[in-house]
Amino acid sequence: MKDILRRYEYDILKCVYCGQCRQVCPTFGQIGWESSSPRGKVKMIHGWLKGDLPLNDRLVDQIYLCAGCEHCTVECPSKLPVVDLIRDTRKELVKSGKGPLPSLKAANDNILLEKNVLGKPHNERMSWRDFEGVTIESSGNTDYAYFVGCMPSYWCSDVVASTIRILRRAKFDFGLIGGEEWCCGMPMIWSGEEDKAKAIVKHNVDKIHELGAKRVLTTCPGCYTTLTREYQNITGKKNSFKVIHVLDLLYELLKEEKLKFENKMDKLVVTYHDPCHIGRSHGKFEQARHLIESIPGMALVEMKKNRQDANCCGGSLSTVSDSLSLAVGTKRIKEALETRANLLVTACPQCYVNLRRSAIEANANIDVIDLTVLVAGAIGL
Ligand code: SF4
Ligand code: SF4
Repeated sequence: MKDILRRYEYDILKCVYCGQCRQVCPTFGQIGWESSSPRGKVKMIHGWLKGDLPLNDRLVDQIYLCAGCEHCTVECPSKLPVVDLIRDTRKELVKSGKGPLPSLKAANDNILLEKNVLGKPHNERMSWRDFEGVTIESSGNTDYAYFVGCMPSYWCSDVVASTIRILRRAKFDFGLIGGEEWCCGMPMIWSGEEDKAKAIVKHNVDKIHELGAKRVLTTCPGCYTTLTREYQNITGKKNSFKVIHVLDLLYELLKEEKLKFENKMDKLVVTYHDPCHIGRSHGKFEQARHLIESIPGMALVEMKKNRQDANCCGGSLSTVSDSLSLAVGTKRIKEALETRANLLVTACPQCYVNLRRSAIEANANIDVIDLTVLVAGAIGL
């Protein structure tokens, strides 16, 4: 038994091959091979551990064809920790020199070189200030630090600008790590190259300490999950700061009447896509719905697959297979269209980007926006 996988020896035997995980898996839904399903992956890993299956390229590919959406894990009647097993298998693949896949390695190299997963120049990390006309200084002591993340910094600056404008309107004091912020490290950690993430994590933690922040705000569920769950494991110390996702902050600000929705959104029918890494991973399902329903003139309709059962947007698959990522995103767009909503709202920059391009690809008559942009519009910003 490979070292890292030893703890799954008993778990793997709990698989009763019921196939419930296959029904919800976005990868299996598109590819349709048993080896692409969670059950197939479990079986292949078991075969490899027993020495019945060689560590060939097919096995490696299938282990990386997983969005990490956690849908299989919540669905499994045997409580098999499928996602943890897949993630730890990736660590073993890296140890064996078989992982990560070249496209993922390139993304991780981007982080080492340019401090962002997209490979954009690091010195452009705060260019969103120019695009969005937001003037804010990047440093200063504060209790609250806004950790912007790679996707909002480079690909959806409207999320950053809307968040900052909302916080200012609410007279909420915060600071930025700004140009000193690096990728949270999630791509390295999830692809099995956790060792490479150590210096990245240490850098970000040091910068948060230098700011004196006791709380860190994120707009990205991936950053949120990484900062809450992974940083403590990697540093071996309890975080000295609390991590807050913007969903919770906006919900609290509304409750405290620091946000007022003054713009009536006439006859706007909205559906909400639950991002996997804030919904299924952290159980945050109702905050966004409450915010949407509090906006005058806005009606919320649900997709058939919602909350714990929401289908993945496919965004995290884009580095491994762009066509698969787009196919999964297009499926979710079709589910949104079935509701007859004219607006699809989400609370994750990666979902936002992938669903937006999927809607364009499908020529779908639905707009996709991030919750922060919707809220800023409803406030009149
Ligand atoms: S985490 Fe999602 S994509 Fe990965 S195997 Fe499970 S259901 Fe499939
Ligand atoms: S849902 Fe669980 S028990 Fe059923 S096939 Fe999948 S991993 Fe095995």
